Amino acid sequence: MQKNKIFNFNYSYLTLPKKFYSLTNVSKFSKPKVFQINDKLLNTLKVPLNNKENLTRILLKTKYDRSFSQAYAGHQFGHFTNLGDGRAIIIGEQKIDKEVYDIQLKGCGSTPYSRNGDGRATLKSMLKEYLISEAMYYLNIPTSRSLAVFKTGDFVYRTNKEKGAILARIMKSHIRVGTFEFASYLCSKKDLMALKIYTINRSYPELIKYENPALELLIQVMQKQIDLVVNWMRVGFIHGVMNTDNTSISGETFDYGPCAFINSYNPNTTYSSIDYNRRYSFGNQPIILKWNISRFAESLLPIIHNKEEKAIQLAQSVIDQFDEIWENKYYGMMLKKVGIKNNNKKLYPLIDEILNYMQKNKKDYNNTFLYLSHNSISDEKINDNSDFKQWYEKWREKIFKISNIKEDKELMKIYNPIIIPRNHIVEKAIDEACNGDLNLFNKFLKVISDPNKNKGLNRFLNPPNKNFEENFQTFCGT
Ligand code: AMP
Ligand code: MG
Repeated sequence: MQKNKIFNFNYSYLTLPKKFYSLTNVSKFSKPKVFQINDKLLNTLKVPLNNKENLTRILLKTKYDRSFSQAYAGHQFGHFTNLGDGRAIIIGEQKIDKEVYDIQLKGCGSTPYSRNGDGRATLKSMLKEYLISEAMYYLNIPTSRSLAVFKTGDFVYRTNKEKGAILARIMKSHIRVGTFEFASYLCSKKDLMALKIYTINRSYPELIKYENPALELLIQVMQKQIDLVVNWMRVGFIHGVMNTDNTSISGETFDYGPCAFINSYNPNTTYSSIDYNRRYSFGNQPIILKWNISRFAESLLPIIHNKEEKAIQLAQSVIDQFDEIWENKYYGMMLKKVGIKNNNKKLYPLIDEILNYMQKNKKDYNNTFLYLSHNSISDEKINDNSDFKQWYEKWREKIFKISNIKEDKELMKIYNPIIIPRNHIVEKAIDEACNGDLNLFNKFLKVISDPNKNKGLNRFLNPPNKNFEENFQTFCGT
């Protein structure tokens, strides 16, 4: 076994049956070199900074006997497929304080699951994942985190010839709904049981004591994923490819491919170039989440109860609670965005009305809320609109009646970030970084690491021009 001075890797995943993984090594690249490094995160990991130079050697140039790619399946755009890590390898699990993290390399060359893919990634897409995952972390949203981006020194061939890169990321667990689908449909009941036990031990140890841990796992994952997607709706995040293989059991956001942030509010907003039916549009995210959790429930049926009929009945009773839990958590969060702590159903129309107003008048989602919480900052021209005035008066009346305006403003400031990673700035920062100018990229990283501070940086606050908005598209698998 190889030792290194920075990490002290463990490989608990390899206690699962062999069909759940393939031992794999990172491919050889011409000239792997650190391109971007996350000092703050390395500090948290307690990686001595003077070892930064060794990071390339330790992450990319060391052959680990037990590094592995994970097997999984998943429903992609509604269709079941056998997948697996086609371009990712977990080089080890690292304990940090009380939590265990996978250290994964993405874009590190082909694996037994690469199918027709090249196992590689472009610098552009890995910089995007680096930037957005860090932004999500600072927006207080559970997410994988990015340790570093390496340039490989090789080109990858997409529509254009592109620079190749590898992202090193950490995540509490890469087990996904698709891992359970793999176990349930392509392995045996014994294998499914082993995955359930491993997952509970690793991510939900409190469930061991329950009479029916598989059912309880379904309940907990549903809750965690609802919390996650409610958080996405809070900041206007569109994941873009909510396939079941991208729905994590630990409730972390990951795989930032075609993701984007909404500008003017419209629930149908989709930027992904391949999402022709708007399956993964902003407003469809809760519907898809319920669909994905239903697939999770199906995969668990054999271990929820020996009698299929009973298992279906038990799982269905969990799924039947989805809508009510979603409504409660979603409106509870949205009411906080308008400064109301009291999660009262009678107040829900207030949220629907402001959203309808935004949609009808093509108003910016983030800046409209910002206008309510920090009106001196947002220059969203909304107060001269009669629909808005009417809503505003109603809101003020409600808010004065039920609470304290000073406290409400504080609450709103927590729920309404000033800075979100606007698509047009993300694109510009990445394009310039790929061409060797890291100024905007680094400045943007600083700005998003403090999303609640107004630094007089209006360019980061403003939505894009019409031309950008109408033509902006995002891409998967780049
Ligand atoms: P994603 O949409 O990025 O979550 O990827 C979906 C599936 O495609 C996963 O199994 C990936 O490992 C695989 N994949 C994506 N890009 C590549 C690539 N360049 N080479 C091989 N497999 C890939
Ligand atoms: Mg994925």
